[in-house]
Amino acid sequence: MKIYVYPHEILKKKAEPVREIDGALQKFIDDMIELMYRAKGVGLAANQVGEAIRLFVMDVSGSDEPPSPIVIINPVITAMEGSEVAEEGCLSVPRYSAKLKRASLVEVKGFDRHGNEIRYEGQGLAARCLQHEIDHLDGICFVDRLSSLKKAMFRKKWPKILAELDLGKDDKE
Ligand code: ZN
Repeated sequence: MKIYVYPHEILKKKAEPVREIDGALQKFIDDMIELMYRAKGVGLAANQVGEAIRLFVMDVSGSDEPPSPIVIINPVITAMEGSEVAEEGCLSVPRYSAKLKRASLVEVKGFDRHGNEIRYEGQGLAARCLQHEIDHLDGICFVDRLSSLKKAMFRKKWPKILAELDLGKDDKE
């Protein structure tokens, strides 16, 4: 499993709902959680690792807290409140971050990895992460949400970062 880097096509694809939770999906979820920790990220959406299905993993607990990964399948945002500007980054856009306005409180409904219905409420970083990951499932990367000025700056900077990353050929496609 690997993380696809912007602007790979899979990141622009709207993910399809998960229809069945089976052993293969459990293994996929475990691999995603492991990869998220290895990459030192706070969230990872399935299409970032090449599967356009509606599921993401996240863990916004601090480094001094025990890991508590959250898995949400077929998530839907059911409430959004307030707004907050903060620095945001993405495992698919390495070595880049930018300030972005997001709702400060978000409620999400979906299913856990066992198929139970869940409701999850996030504030601050958790709210930001929920919006960021659900955006991924809709084919939206955080850089797509930047102001046109910031987007222009990003477009100028990004090819240089990509070149430095020294990715394999298929990552650049
Ligand atoms: Zn991301």
